[in-house]
Amino acid sequence: MNRRYQVPLDDLNTFHIHALAESMIYLTNLEECKALFADQNLLEEIHFIGGGSNILLTEDIKGLTVLNQLKGKSVIHETDDEVHVKFMSGENWHECVLWCVENNLGGIENLSLIPGTIGAAPIQNIGAYGVELKDVFVTLEAIDVNTGAVHVFSNAECEFGYRDSIFKHKVKGQYFILSVTLSLSKQHVCHTEYGMIAEELQKMGVEKPDIRSVSDAVIKIRSSKLPNPDHIGNAGSFFKNPIVTQEHFQSLKIHYPDLPSYPVEEGIKVPAAWLIEHSGPSSNQSWKGYRRGDCGVHERQALVLVNYGEASGKEILELSTRIITSVQQRFNILLEREVNVW
Ligand code: FAD
Ligand code: NAP
Repeated sequence: MNRRYQVPLDDLNTFHIHALAESMIYLTNLEECKALFADQNLLEEIHFIGGGSNILLTEDIKGLTVLNQLKGKSVIHETDDEVHVKFMSGENWHECVLWCVENNLGGIENLSLIPGTIGAAPIQNIGAYGVELKDVFVTLEAIDVNTGAVHVFSNAECEFGYRDSIFKHKVKGQYFILSVTLSLSKQHVCHTEYGMIAEELQKMGVEKPDIRSVSDAVIKIRSSKLPNPDHIGNAGSFFKNPIVTQEHFQSLKIHYPDLPSYPVEEGIKVPAAWLIEHSGPSSNQSWKGYRRGDCGVHERQALVLVNYGEASGKEILELSTRIITSVQQRFNILLEREVNVW
């Protein structure tokens, strides 16, 4: 097993925050996995990193950090309509989406260009453009870090919610996800009604969308709207979009008639980006484009906090707290961080 000490994490988190891992193991196969979790001495303090695109490092990581590099995919079930593919958890999510498109398997094309690994996708039930992981999820295999036993979680057992799952709450830190099996469709239904997809397809001259053109459209939109972490450190949306009650929403509408809204099962979803844009460090300023030192709020995406160079995780966390406070004071809405703070 490849083990190193005092490993700089700057290039292993998309915020590009400087921090050290006290010790790190690069996990590349199942034998190493079994050996690792059989050795109880290793399990005192353990952290998992995939692509590092949903973490904020506020200090050096003590104990053992496991970098997931488990690769492989296999078809485990096939009918005339669908194919179940088992992906090893260290596979890159976007490369798997492209592989599906290439092999004419539909279902995750709207989730193109999301950074990170397959294994982290269930943790927050990744979602974009009206599709969530749970829509295609069949099962996952995970190792219980306390016992070394492998457990298979069904869709229901994962308790998926909006950017949420059991792995963020009840069993947080207890399991290492080994593989994820998805049900992909041979009979495609394209979801083009969300956001700018239909408009982008029109611009591309596509009359009959297929999974490839939808994937291409999503890639184009995302590349034009979102800051590339290779150029400016960020972890995508820092906060979740809050869901408020109908009464709360109606009272806000009186003062803020332009407030956008999307009815969902649990209530009314309002875009966190709008709330952040319409509050700020002082009453006549907006957070959008705010910068102090090397940390700030992206100038085109108020939901994305950025590291322009040497910002520390603590500075970004402090900025996020100021944003939460000002949004709460103005709208009486408590924003929740989507990014995992370490
Ligand atoms: P990491 O950041 O490495 O880890 C995230 C959490 O999962 C950590 O707590 C980690 O310990 C845990 N974890 C990772 N792997 C395992 C494992 N194998 N077993 C157990 N625990 C594990 N998210 C969306 O939902 N939709 C989007 O559209 C989206 N767009 C993004 C755009 C940008 C530019 C960026 C930077 C991020 C975006 N994200 C989005 C967030 C992020 O890409 C996803 O949450 C992704 O699934 C994180 O994968 P990762 O491998 O980088 O996870
Ligand atoms: P957008 O299209 O400008 O829309 C703004 C917000 O309004 C989105 O966050 C979305 O919520 C919501 N919304 C828009 N149309 C909707 C509809 N028809 N029904 C319900 N909700 C709707 O958003 P964007 O910032 O460009 O992002 C596009 C998609 O990529 C979104 O789904 C977003 O979640 C996803 N994304 C996620 C991250 C991340 O890190 N989590 C980063 C970038 C983009 P939802 O977020 O609930 O979809």
